[in-house]
Amino acid sequence: MLRMDAFTLRFAHSYEEASTLWCEATAAGDDPMYIAGGTDLLPNLKHKIFHPKRLVHLGSIPGGIEDRGDEVVIGAATRLDAIASDPNVLAHAPALARAASLVAGPQIRSMGTLGGNVLLDTRCLYYNQTEFWRRALGYCLKAEGTWCHVVGGPKTCVATQSSDTVPVLLAMDARLDLLGQTGPRTMAIRELYRYNGMDHLQIQKGELLTAVRIPKWNTSEGEFRSSYQKLRTRDSIDFPQLGLAMAGSFDGPTVRGLQIVVGAVNPQPKGVRGLDAYDGEVLGSTQIEAIADLVYKQTRPQASTHGDTAWRRQMAVVYVRRGLTALAAG
Ligand SMILES: Cc1cc2nc3c(=O)[nH]c(=O)nc-3n(C[C@H](O)[C@H](O)[C@H](O)COP(=O)(O)OP(=O)(O)OC[C@H]3O[C@@H](n4cnc5c(N)ncnc54)[C@H](O)[C@@H]3O)c2cc1C
Ligand code: SF4
Repeated sequence: MLRMDAFTLRFAHSYEEASTLWCEATAAGDDPMYIAGGTDLLPNLKHKIFHPKRLVHLGSIPGGIEDRGDEVVIGAATRLDAIASDPNVLAHAPALARAASLVAGPQIRSMGTLGGNVLLDTRCLYYNQTEFWRRALGYCLKAEGTWCHVVGGPKTCVATQSSDTVPVLLAMDARLDLLGQTGPRTMAIRELYRYNGMDHLQIQKGELLTAVRIPKWNTSEGEFRSSYQKLRTRDSIDFPQLGLAMAGSFDGPTVRGLQIVVGAVNPQPKGVRGLDAYDGEVLGSTQIEAIADLVYKQTRPQASTHGDTAWRRQMAVVYVRRGLTALAAG
């Protein structure tokens, strides 16, 4: 049995209260952390990856999904299974509903929140292990050690950002409502992640995610179509080994504003560059092959996740072909 270290649990009923509780715990030297559904944090505590003396529980803060005219706003505390079946999400961000429906298995989706998914710690085969396992290997750069076993060096950590919802949120240019010590602010999700598996989130310590805003796409140029495809070994539970989101406005097979985001291959999910060249183009097989080639050239999976890296890279090509063919066909 894996035992957690002792900690105190404080319940917050609003984000303001959570922020205050976090400040108090920090002032007391308790090195606090927030816990929402706990589906990622609790395994990490059992593996003794983190050592907080106090947890601030966000589970009593209500979530919810609202249609606000030009955007759909999803509270950070909203459970993934609610997102997967919500009529507003299905109408305006169907790929997000699909991504949420593909996270782990039903039990985890009924506990896990969107906030926890967006702010999920990066993962690695050499890091998400028991303390005994990690100690036997001499630890690693991300926790207690000095060496990265994936890149074979002492400087870079390439642990993977492995959230299913994130590539879709990036493809749809979502914005994040945050609450920190300096008050509330909004930032684009594309500014959130950086290529550093040890410190991949560009937010302040103790800053809370309170909501995710998803813009409704302008449909005057065509019908909004999107997709999310996930590669994993066991469909019933596994994290993605590759997550591919696509979104664009379509008039028949003619596309505008095409976005493709590749996730679960390195610390920073990234949008594919060079897709502007296809604005106003009919997506036939020649264009789809050219885009698949672009994605292949820009996708460099790291071995921090299960699955041969060359296979995961090649699967990006397969998923682009399948996804764009389906989107072009409507
Ligand atoms: C067996 C297993 C399989 C899984 N498979 C998948 C998968 O296929 N795809 C996937 O995407 N995920 C997967 N997960 C990870 C996890 O279940 C989900 O990412 C889930 O959405 C995390 O949400 P949570 O509310 O449980 O987060 P928690 O575990 O409570 O928190 C995660 C992190 O986010 C922080 N946090 C949470 N909410 C906030 C907030 N509002 N403001 C500031 N910080 C916050 C916490 O401090 C913590 O650092 C899996 C987990 C397990 C155990
Ligand atoms: S990528 Fe390297 S440093 Fe980062 S968690 Fe994995 S082994 Fe550790």
